[in-house]
Amino acid sequence: MAQLIDGKKISQEIKDELKERVAKLKEQGRTGALAVIQVGTDPASSVYVRNKKNACAYIGIESLSYELPEETTQQELLALIEKLNEDDHVRGILVQLPVPAHIDENAIIRAIRPDKDVDGFHPQSVGAMTIGQKGFLPCTPAGIIQLLKRSGIEIAGKHCVVIGRSNIVGKPMALLLLRENGTVTIAHSRTQNLKELCRQADILVVAIGKPRFIGADYIKEGAVVIDVGIHRNENNKLCGDVNFEEAEPLASAITPVPGGVGPMTIAMLMNNCVESIAGIEG
Ligand code: NAP
Repeated sequence: MAQLIDGKKISQEIKDELKERVAKLKEQGRTGALAVIQVGTDPASSVYVRNKKNACAYIGIESLSYELPEETTQQELLALIEKLNEDDHVRGILVQLPVPAHIDENAIIRAIRPDKDVDGFHPQSVGAMTIGQKGFLPCTPAGIIQLLKRSGIEIAGKHCVVIGRSNIVGKPMALLLLRENGTVTIAHSRTQNLKELCRQADILVVAIGKPRFIGADYIKEGAVVIDVGIHRNENNKLCGDVNFEEAEPLASAITPVPGGVGPMTIAMLMNNCVESIAGIEG
């Protein structure tokens, strides 16, 4: 039976470590806030925003909430970001994505000062990650590295196959696995022989965005399987990109959905905020 990689437990450990660090930083007079901006009232975004604010409260950092109406213009949003960039008490700025279609997402990402870019999406943060310099790491892939390390799974020398090449998951995931000395292959919708390729993976990271797509015939016996996907099935239950029942008997270790990668994203966001308050990015 596969080792179940418990993201709920590991994310809790990280948040508890951060809580202690925040208390120590406070003793040294170092405090700061995370500014969370939401434009519109998309219900899924509202849940993510609420979870982020709750996590701030848990570890003991202040969160400032900006709930802007759907019709907010790009200029108005950029003006708010500029104000927060200049505010020394604000150590992190997060704009919940996606923003409404009339706002250019890339312009928003570029407007956040890199030393407050706790999502790790600014081109400077991405560049720094690529060449191994200091900067904030994107939270989901950074969380997966923590899941692997804290579960005692060796990355160095392993063949890591990442399915998906999005800017927020697939691409940074591949770079971070490379940084840990994995031998990395990236697969996407134009990849040929996906099953054969996946069956060569010692570590298979699935970020394909298709419910229960990856079944037994994609998995080598003994592989580590990381499922990034989040979907609701027809019964309104959460499931991932991996068919868990088929994959689990073959895998040596596997993340469940829910309770695998999901909780790590917020834990790593909190980590970036604390690093920012401490004055050490990345
Ligand atoms: P995305 O932007 O839709 O990217 C999906 C990737 O999968 C693309 O690169 C696409 O290839 C590739 N792909 C699609 N169909 C494929 C196929 N048949 N064969 C091979 N590759 C295929 O998704 P994302 O933002 O990376 O997110 C992926 C999943 O993770 C989603 O379910 C999302 O909800 C979830 N997610 C979870 C968290 C978390 O905190 N747990 C965070 C972010 C995302 P092309 O580039 O060629 O189109």
